[in-house]
Amino acid sequence: MNPKEIFLCSICNVTSGNCAEDCKYCTQSSHYNTNVPTYKNKPIEDILHEARSLKEYGALGFCLVTSGRGLDSKKCEYIAQAARAIKEADLGLHIIACCGRADLDSLKYLKANGVDSYNHNLETSKNFFPQVCSTHTWSERFETCENALKAELGLCSGGIFGLGESWEDRIDMLKTLQILTPHSSPINFYIANPNLPIKAPKLSKEEALDCVALAREFLPKTRLMIAGGREHIFGEDQKKLFECGINAVVLGDYLTTKGEAPKNDVDRILLYGYTPATSCH
Ligand code: SF4
Repeated sequence: MNPKEIFLCSICNVTSGNCAEDCKYCTQSSHYNTNVPTYKNKPIEDILHEARSLKEYGALGFCLVTSGRGLDSKKCEYIAQAARAIKEADLGLHIIACCGRADLDSLKYLKANGVDSYNHNLETSKNFFPQVCSTHTWSERFETCENALKAELGLCSGGIFGLGESWEDRIDMLKTLQILTPHSSPINFYIANPNLPIKAPKLSKEEALDCVALAREFLPKTRLMIAGGREHIFGEDQKKLFECGINAVVLGDYLTTKGEAPKNDVDRILLYGYTPATSCH
């Protein structure tokens, strides 16, 4: 990896909200009144428009994200259709799908239809997970990551820090990620919301940087991607994130939390002396 190169990824929330799961950190869960936009199956034309815009800003990856527990047959067909349309538009984007729990056959089908990688986060350690979700298990999450690898998709898997987990939990999660060896690993910091049940205090910048440095230590060859919570903790002052091992960023909106405009992200990366990567490989 070139230490001066930063990979730009992007997210397209194609189905939002109304999730029956009770993940206590997630505003898309219908268990909490978070008032996020709710919609299903964004029109393919709109997805293509977003893909083109983000590509212009330098995005190499484009992730199709759906809320909900997992990938049923209808959702799988819709994501396959979106992936085919993006590939046909020949934008040169690496396509990632992020649709929750998924079996091997569905993932093979996505791969056959143009999806390159699958994102499924472990979120936290096996021990701590039952404290933040009661409707599915951590083992199901792990199994989906294994299925993605078996389907020969690239694996993108990481987690969220600041849920009230201990350092031991953080290390346990990173040890498991070490076994899975994802090609990229999203690092999220929890953003408190008055309607979400987790009331853990906001991480300090120092603790958040320690989490990044620890992740880099455990995952020396993985693309460490800063995702949700970046501005919440660091504001405009994000240089140290890159110095501690971040080498990928998510451009544009981060699901329901407004990210910075993609142009600001690119300008900041240049200002810090890094260059946006020009190839995903
Ligand atoms: S399953 Fe996914 S979308 Fe649903 S509440 Fe949990 S994290 Fe949010």
